[in-house]
Amino acid sequence: MEKKIIWGISQDLQAHIRYEPNACKGYVLDLSLGCSHHCLYCLFSPLEMKVYKLHNPQYKGDTIPLKLDKFLMQKEFPPVIYMSYSSDPLGNETLIRSTVKALHKLLDNDVNVFFISKGIFNDEVLEEMKRKPHLMHIQIGLINADDERNRIIEPGAPSYNRRLENLQKLSAIEGLGNLAVRIDPLLPLIDDHDENIIRILNDVSSLGVKEAVFGYVILTKGMIERWKGIKNMRACAESLSEKTPTISDQELFSIPYDVKIKKFEHFREICEEYGVKMSCCGCKDERLKNTSFEWICHPFNRKRRKEFINEDSKFRIEYTHLK
Ligand code: SF4
Repeated sequence: MEKKIIWGISQDLQAHIRYEPNACKGYVLDLSLGCSHHCLYCLFSPLEMKVYKLHNPQYKGDTIPLKLDKFLMQKEFPPVIYMSYSSDPLGNETLIRSTVKALHKLLDNDVNVFFISKGIFNDEVLEEMKRKPHLMHIQIGLINADDERNRIIEPGAPSYNRRLENLQKLSAIEGLGNLAVRIDPLLPLIDDHDENIIRILNDVSSLGVKEAVFGYVILTKGMIERWKGIKNMRACAESLSEKTPTISDQELFSIPYDVKIKKFEHFREICEEYGVKMSCCGCKDERLKNTSFEWICHPFNRKRRKEFINEDSKFRIEYTHLK
């Protein structure tokens, strides 16, 4: 059967809320085509750019802020959306301004927001979030404390310390829906050693963070072959040897499952020492759903998603994959 191309970012470059089966079967909102952080391991941002280029051969691959006029006129919203799927909502100054506007609209309409970012939470963003903090469910990506590694792997993202500053500001907000650190995607042999994990857990727990979401990188065959040609990445790439069952039907590879389980058990023990709950993502490896790990990676989905199922709504909320 011929595979249908699923459009993510709209051709008219308007931001729009869309259903995305690969994002925990939920609704997502991107505010840019492409992402200014340019993480080497990113699957979704390059894919969106590739699909856009198919229809716009003149597109050069730059990060384009999406227009907000149609979104700002929208009257109906799903009860929860994920910002953002193939970009960072705080990717650069222009996007930060768009994010403030988008959050204003969403919070006015009592939409719960899963907000995942490695960017800078400036005062304007924080003030907006403080209007209805209970609707904000925030995860900060923090995978390695080594800025030299980050400069190569996440070249456009802020430093480790600046991301810690974000956590400090966010944990001071009273009544925030929830706040977690996302130690995901871990690069085997680069990020998953005790010294790094202990450093992160020590730093974030001292700032009041109570949950850490762990995950290993998953890559396409093509990306793995490219990484094998990059100095210092070869061993990491070679260890991504096992086809991994994810929520998407893409062919993706990660570390062997038995190694992953042992590593996760070890990370869970370290988390316990710091009073941090360890969780992981069952969408990135569906076998985790049959383990004792907490595999629903958003506390909101664990506790509250079910209450928003409404058969009469045009926004379908799915829960069966979370059982
Ligand atoms: S921040 Fe997220 S969306 Fe942006 S490049 Fe990195 S992984 Fe991709």
